[in-house]
Amino acid sequence: MLRLLSLVALCAASLARADYMDHFVQREDVGPRKAPSLGDSKVILIPIEVAGFPPIDVAALEAFFSPENPNGFVRYYETASLGRYRPRVTVAPRVHYANCPLPAAQFPTCAVARGDINAFTAGMDMMREVVKKTDEAGFDFAPYDVNGRKGVADGWLDGVMLLTNVPFGGIAFPFAFFNRGDNLGGGTGGPLIVDGVKVGHFAVAGDSDAFVMVHEFGHLLGLTDLYDESGQYDGLNLSWMGSWGYDANIPLPDAETRFRLRWGAWNQVQGRQRVTIRPAETSGDVFRLGAGDEYFLVENRGPGGAFDRALPERGLAVFHVDRKVKLDGTEGQFVNRILDCVNCDPWHPYIRLVQADGKFEIEKNKKFGVGDLFTAGTFLRPDSSGLPVSKTNAVNSTNLYSGAASSLRLDDVRLLDDGSIEVTLDAPETGQCDDRLCAEGDGCAPVRCGEPPAPKSGCGVGEGLTPALLALLLEKRLRRREQRVLRGP
Ligand SMILES: [Zn+2]
Repeated sequence: MLRLLSLVALCAASLARADYMDHFVQREDVGPRKAPSLGDSKVILIPIEVAGFPPIDVAALEAFFSPENPNGFVRYYETASLGRYRPRVTVAPRVHYANCPLPAAQFPTCAVARGDINAFTAGMDMMREVVKKTDEAGFDFAPYDVNGRKGVADGWLDGVMLLTNVPFGGIAFPFAFFNRGDNLGGGTGGPLIVDGVKVGHFAVAGDSDAFVMVHEFGHLLGLTDLYDESGQYDGLNLSWMGSWGYDANIPLPDAETRFRLRWGAWNQVQGRQRVTIRPAETSGDVFRLGAGDEYFLVENRGPGGAFDRALPERGLAVFHVDRKVKLDGTEGQFVNRILDCVNCDPWHPYIRLVQADGKFEIEKNKKFGVGDLFTAGTFLRPDSSGLPVSKTNAVNSTNLYSGAASSLRLDDVRLLDDGSIEVTLDAPETGQCDDRLCAEGDGCAPVRCGEPPAPKSGCGVGEGLTPALLALLLEKRLRRREQRVLRGP
């Protein structure tokens, strides 16, 4: 019994900053386990104001969640998704509490310390009550289901956020999975049912911190945490699901997350290609080297847009991805993933930022900085040692985690004036084009695999000889002839 209790305590403790989702191991569970991340969504934000704590600035909140705010929540998700995901946020009427909604005996200051087991059930009761109070205040939840797996209403709310002014970090909470009590719809357990629509999970942020909410909302979309829960190092940089310090400069998604969300322009590399990679924030360009579960992704990141402003320079961000690391789509497995997080091993995480300078400062618990993106003069190549990158073999390479040398290469980086970056990429000559994320729709298949097919030659028109160029050449020859005629013999 004691042992069981301690296990429950451990799980609950970790849940205080829990993730929930699986980074799209499952794609079919939009609705019950994921909020839709493509198309138009109507999302609800409920402010929860407890007397005695700094009041919530509703005007500032409305502004941050407005589509007009170039630095806010909506524009962030629209930019990151290339406009494929278009949330519109309705700020519901504030729910007021004259006193802390958590039991006073356990929470004398209403602050929720990380890992506090009492917060587990008390927090669930509060979530249920907040939805009930909002409903009773006359708020109609029914119009906030317009999206779903098939892009239309599916009986599940498109996304619900709870923002409170009490001291509390953030959590994305799989309410339906843990609920054993009232579902508000006349039944017990599972998702809440309100105005005929279900809600299975909530994004929650405290201290009125809307930036934390941008991250927590990412969990509702299906993303797991990419920072290092174990505290050995920061975890993944260049991602709002990773080690983002919650400053005003929201980082764009890492290439793997964008790829999985179907928000990128997926270019699959086959053979040797000289390519131009445009800035991620405007093009969505993701170049994938390798296929299957382990591969490298390359994207162009840098300051200049509304997001990623804190980046010190522009260059290619290279991510070594291994989908075999701790991902599991089985319901409830997120608990194990919280206990042993996907990016907890700095030398073999699910997603590792390969740093161009080869100093491995991130793995050594130092900071991301100048020299970590691939710029002119940098490269990444296989290593014939037969060893993977590890603590005892801190040598940059495209070797797989098995140690096997891949044939993947990145060479001859050149920054162009418009912010695009030219680079030569190498991948196997064949067999790279068949991976698919889904059957149909944006981002399911590569927009390109390998070199584009050479233009068909015909009528003696050679490669690269466009009709306009041909006309120009003809005219020049004509002139020469005319000039010859004019000069005469
Ligand atoms: Zn998180």
